[in-house]
Amino acid sequence: MTTTTDTFTGHKGLELEVPLLFEEGSYEKSGVDMPEPSGTSRLGDLCAEQPVELPAFAEPQAMRHFVRLSQKNYAIDMGIFPLGSCTMKHNPRLNERMARLPGFADVHPLQPVQTVQGALGLIHELQHWLCELTAMPAVAMSPKAGAHGELCGMMAIRAAIEAKGEGATRTKVLVPESAHGTNPATAAQCGFTVHKLPATEDGRVDLAAMTEKLSDEVAAIMVTNPNTCGLFERDIREMAEAVHEAGGYFYCDGANFNAIVGKVRPGDLGIDAMHINLHKTFSTPHGGGGPGSGPTVLSDALAPFAPVPAVVKSGESFEIIEQAEGDMEQAFGRMVAFHGQMGMFVRALSYMMSHGADGLRKVAEDSVLNANYVRVRLAEEMTQGYPGTCMHEALFSDRWLKDTGVGTLDFAKAMIDEGFHPMTMYFPLVVSGAMLIEPTETESKASLDEFCDSLLGLARAAKAGEKERFTQAPRYAPRTRLDETKAARKPVLKWTPANPEAMAAE
Ligand SMILES: *Cc1c(COP(=O)(O)O)cnc(C)c1O
Repeated sequence: MTTTTDTFTGHKGLELEVPLLFEEGSYEKSGVDMPEPSGTSRLGDLCAEQPVELPAFAEPQAMRHFVRLSQKNYAIDMGIFPLGSCTMKHNPRLNERMARLPGFADVHPLQPVQTVQGALGLIHELQHWLCELTAMPAVAMSPKAGAHGELCGMMAIRAAIEAKGEGATRTKVLVPESAHGTNPATAAQCGFTVHKLPATEDGRVDLAAMTEKLSDEVAAIMVTNPNTCGLFERDIREMAEAVHEAGGYFYCDGANFNAIVGKVRPGDLGIDAMHINLHKTFSTPHGGGGPGSGPTVLSDALAPFAPVPAVVKSGESFEIIEQAEGDMEQAFGRMVAFHGQMGMFVRALSYMMSHGADGLRKVAEDSVLNANYVRVRLAEEMTQGYPGTCMHEALFSDRWLKDTGVGTLDFAKAMIDEGFHPMTMYFPLVVSGAMLIEPTETESKASLDEFCDSLLGLARAAKAGEKERFTQAPRYAPRTRLDETKAARKPVLKWTPANPEAMAAE
């Protein structure tokens, strides 16, 4: 165990040091009382001859181990999560309560359709509101994350192109330099070649450069709006017109829909496909690897290619279309085994209904207001990535740190000492040493002020030459500065006993 303090235990106050399971457990004992095996083993000569060498715990020990570990995690329920392009936000407990109602929580995807009419009704209702909010005619509910939703949209685009007999010739997808990495990855996964779109000086897609790249080889453009610099793409309608004129489709990355929900409808902007991250806009839990949910809305041109399954209303009851036949014979296929993330659907609809139309509009307004509040306050010491107002997130470059000997990474590490999770760093790539901050609409003014005061204080310290405070940070975290390059290049993924001979002898 490496300790970072001079206490006997390695604990720092109530911050307790947690050894690995392998270091803490006992190899001689078991936490479970097993009866002695009697008679002959049916394993024959497959019976283990050596102890299995797994650490064992008594119940209180196991409890303590995992509770201590859980307390090392920073969470949205502990404080502000300023990560940009991520939208970590408070999950109202009402949503959680709804999702735990037995009629929703305990349904099984293989139950007969007559027994899950309420659950299907809820999916149908959510479909309706997603279409209504986006002014799009169709939505595929099954994608399980933003990236999965992108895959759904791009597969629909590929199917539409193939249906027109242009599959062999329309092979290019245009993606801006500032795009989230999942955009080019999705296009490549679908067999397209990815071509970069340059940005203008004000951080938006260069319309003239884009138009020049359009041809009968372009299958689609993939544009994020608001984009990953936190800016609204002013020329979005012109982009849509231009790509349609060239016979291609417009994929919009709608991960940041929370900034415009209730204010702008993507269908009115000429978009053909867009995923919505329920875990970013409609307050379903986010992080820790999911479960997310990325329904994808589709235009008239793409709707026929939407994947199965789909929930439809027939008279007074709901049905699931499971096969690509009948009305859905052009479906490009299926993306998931069942119907999507039921628990997320319940939470999202609960969030929509508890907010109402005016409430959802206010979500967008407040997320933009909060980001601009942070932008203006921090601009006192920090340099903005691009001039002017932003949407849901505020982007700063590292220009203001020039000559201080402190870099973006050092600054972020010093934020940990102040009790904050760092913002998104070095993304988007188009801005040097980027710091992308997204407070979201759920932070109070007091919380934003505490955050801004701390960052401004740090910024002044950096400029005043207190370099060590940053290069040595974090000083108060369970682990201090790590060798991140080594961790990435030579990760230690396997525990090896410090003294293997001693263990073997036991
Ligand atoms: C989060 C995000 C994605 C990917 O969404 P996941 O649910 O994490 O797969 C794609 N694009 C943008 C702009 C995002 O912010």
